[in-house]
Amino acid sequence: MRGFTVPTVQASHAIGVDLGGTKILAGVVARDGSVVRRHERATPQDSQDRVVAELEAAVAELLDESVAAVGIGAPSPINQKRGIVVECVNLPLVEEPLRDHMRERFGVAVGIDNDANAAAIGEWRAGAARGVDDVVMLTLGTGLGGGVISGGVPFRGRDGAGAELGHVVIVRDGIPCQGVCAGRGHLEAYTTGLAAGHRAQETFGPAADAHRLVRLADEGDATAREILADIGRHLGSGMGSFVNIFGPELVVIGGGFGVAAWDYLVESATDVMRRESLRPMRDSVRVVRAELGTAAGLIGAAFVGFEALDASAP
Ligand SMILES: [Zn+2]
Repeated sequence: MRGFTVPTVQASHAIGVDLGGTKILAGVVARDGSVVRRHERATPQDSQDRVVAELEAAVAELLDESVAAVGIGAPSPINQKRGIVVECVNLPLVEEPLRDHMRERFGVAVGIDNDANAAAIGEWRAGAARGVDDVVMLTLGTGLGGGVISGGVPFRGRDGAGAELGHVVIVRDGIPCQGVCAGRGHLEAYTTGLAAGHRAQETFGPAADAHRLVRLADEGDATAREILADIGRHLGSGMGSFVNIFGPELVVIGGGFGVAAWDYLVESATDVMRRESLRPMRDSVRVVRAELGTAAGLIGAAFVGFEALDASAP
């Protein structure tokens, strides 16, 4: 009798899940960062159980024998010691032990992280910061997320909740911060798509928003361009401090607003960043635009899954 071999599929992939305020973006990701399959579903808003159930459904949709790990990025500080999503700004998810829950449900290695950390890890592993060991990434969307790679390792701080770069003070007693943050004068309050929308409304009327502001700048409107340049100067204040603290080789600007307004932010942001930072960091740092778009979060989340898998290997 002729022998045959049963084909074995190596469990070489991870599912990355980017939990957003409106959408759950999930994908099966290879070790080289390529996305093999994708799945998307709406984020429920009504209860913690429903959010967790939809996260489970997104993973179940993609799970097969090629998958060895799951990683999830959530819009919340994460307690890495306990594997807990602490508190989402815009979702009913509080003190959720998501890591153990998903590990028990699917029987694979599971890692969780903050969504901006995940985006930074995505750009570092497979995007604009590929091959670079020291990276600061700022994700300018509705909020301002930050992620740091330091010496080739994601920086997470003591409990794993760092680095919340949007909540550093750039103006003492400045304007109130967004969302659940009670602080004042924080970088986030001046540099997000939401902040740009407020600036646009002051100048162009109540119907204006960040999209309109960027469109007007594209059409050559000098006032719109000056507002965006001013937002860039605020961004540069924060970037200068991050350059002094972390000594990065690259500062990556991403997020929906950050990428859309890049042309109008980058020059003024870079000028102020260089003014505020010291040599030799000032001379070697470069500012680049993110490359992975909306996939950065899910790709990075998959690498958080790989990180959990590799940490659990004998
Ligand atoms: Zn804040």
